[in-house]
Amino acid sequence: MEKYLDLRNKKEYKGIEEAGQKIKAGGLVLFPTETVYGLGANGLNSEAVEKIYSAKGRKSDNPLILHISNLEMLSKIAQGITKVEQKLIQAFFPGPFTIILKRTDIVPDVVTAGLETVGIRMPSGEIARRLIEEAGVPIAAPSANISGKPSGTNVQDIYEELKDKVDIIIDGGETEVGLESTVVQVIDEIPHILRPGKITAEQIKEVVGNVEIDKHILNKTEKDQKILSPGMKYRHYAPNSKCLLVYSKEKDKLVNKIKEIANTYDNPLIISKSDNIENFSEFKTIDMGNTLEDISKNIFTVLRKVDKEKPSIVIIEGVSRDGIGLAIMNRLIRACEYNYIEV
Ligand code: AMP
Ligand code: MG
Repeated sequence: MEKYLDLRNKKEYKGIEEAGQKIKAGGLVLFPTETVYGLGANGLNSEAVEKIYSAKGRKSDNPLILHISNLEMLSKIAQGITKVEQKLIQAFFPGPFTIILKRTDIVPDVVTAGLETVGIRMPSGEIARRLIEEAGVPIAAPSANISGKPSGTNVQDIYEELKDKVDIIIDGGETEVGLESTVVQVIDEIPHILRPGKITAEQIKEVVGNVEIDKHILNKTEKDQKILSPGMKYRHYAPNSKCLLVYSKEKDKLVNKIKEIANTYDNPLIISKSDNIENFSEFKTIDMGNTLEDISKNIFTVLRKVDKEKPSIVIIEGVSRDGIGLAIMNRLIRACEYNYIEV
């Protein structure tokens, strides 16, 4: 790293111009968006984009999202936008929403992993927006983390793993949402949610009248199965320790089941809602917050704390799938490598 830019709690944005130039020139910049931190490079420069894959250790068949700051950029990288797609763009740009569109020829193959489509998002975070504006090109940026690890929602969590791999780090404090964007692809006029996020199925349905939730969101993909979003097949968000996700609609049942399982292990760790934590006072615990909004903000940092404790098992309390709860459960199920029980 050549430069660390501290923009926490600041209303001025000094240094972003230089970071934008760095991106334009083919460098790597770690920067905050409203969802999670991104590892950004010039999205129209294949060599620069390849640096992202090697920095993360990301598989080359897992495409990247291009981040834009205005609709003029959109028209350069996407074509044949349909009415339904147009409506979604109008409703959810800028924000935590990615749409998969037919790409134009200027989008390098390495960005889309060879697909004819490209994922596009217009972030609402001020630092991200200004950075793209200064770069003057779409910024290819996956979540900032080594592949397989939880995404970075603050600089401290990812500093050690990425500091030697980027040119500039922009620190904007904790990200607002804490989970990656909702990814949507419109097929035969119906929006399909490929990855859930803060923009929910209900919100999408309100705009275009219908919505499908891809079945892989909470289910394992079988080997060789054709899936729309390549990223869904990889191990993700997972601590090194073995994790188990437990959920029940009834609080007493949930607490009892977690205790029962914890008692069969030597050194268990329980990740629980603040309200339930006193029920687990005889065990090691980590508090993940109470509301779905708090949990989505905290969950990646919480998952990163797990390995420091070296537990024999991590038992994680599941949440309801309402609203952003579906996105939380999608990440937790993957963190637990599909070890999930509902009682
Ligand atoms: P990340 O950048 O790590 O937040 O992950 C981006 C997600 O978007 C991954 O799950 C990708 O598989 C998905 N994605 C990106 N581009 C496309 C595309 N063209 N078609 C389908 N999924 C995509
Ligand atoms: Mg990621």
